[in-house]
Amino acid sequence: MSHLVEENLKTVRQQMELACQVSGRKIEDVKLLLATKTVPLEKLQMAIQSGETLFGENKAQELRGKFPLMQQYTRVEWHFIGHLQTNKVKDVVKYVTLIHSVDRLKLGQALHHQLVKENKSMDILVQINTSYEESKFGAPPESALELVEQLSQFETLNVKGLMTIGKLNATNDETRHCFRLLKSIQTQIREKKFPRVQMEILSMGMSGDFKVAIEEGATIIRVGTSVFGQRYLPDSYYWNENARQDD
Ligand SMILES: *Cc1c(COP(=O)(O)O)cnc(C)c1O
Repeated sequence: MSHLVEENLKTVRQQMELACQVSGRKIEDVKLLLATKTVPLEKLQMAIQSGETLFGENKAQELRGKFPLMQQYTRVEWHFIGHLQTNKVKDVVKYVTLIHSVDRLKLGQALHHQLVKENKSMDILVQINTSYEESKFGAPPESALELVEQLSQFETLNVKGLMTIGKLNATNDETRHCFRLLKSIQTQIREKKFPRVQMEILSMGMSGDFKVAIEEGATIIRVGTSVFGQRYLPDSYYWNENARQDD
């Protein structure tokens, strides 16, 4: 079992290198984030032993559960990649260095409010629903510019880039379209030169489509299944409409 995580990581790393070669990119410019929802701690420790340092959680509760043990590894960094309910903001800002999933003004306000209290700031990405699928979160592409501008006015929030989930079970062309759309929104936002807004991070690509994402400019890919194996909970548990309850 221990060898499996290690072997899977080796394969993913090789595929990343290949995708970089194909698209003339440098491997240092693409970070591998391991998506750890439902993954038991032993497997995370195996990944750490293989040299991995960047992990992403979808739920505040799971993050809270895993954090104490992970804290002993000083180089380990956590990002939040799931749908964030405003009432969970307090937990999440305690543990993570980047939130990938800010997709509405109300969440920005809640984050700002908490960060002011704690006298802290937080790096964020704005999540865009590039596939227009109902089942997924993210701001509609049409409102991306406005949302980024609004979020940039909270001085505790540093907008660092954009995140998307590509269309699932789709052809390469369809997912490529999602990633190109995200890239083009990044370009449009850069042209606006909003004060304090940086746009260097593009978080896109998962197990099924990270090669395409790298070809289209991803700077962080988020991989779970390819490294840790199939999850026992369906993604709808993390992504479905019920999670929207608070807004
Ligand atoms: C689960 C998840 C991933 C990883 O998905 P895999 O298909 O298992 O690689 C990436 N991003 C988000 C937001 C996720 O919830």
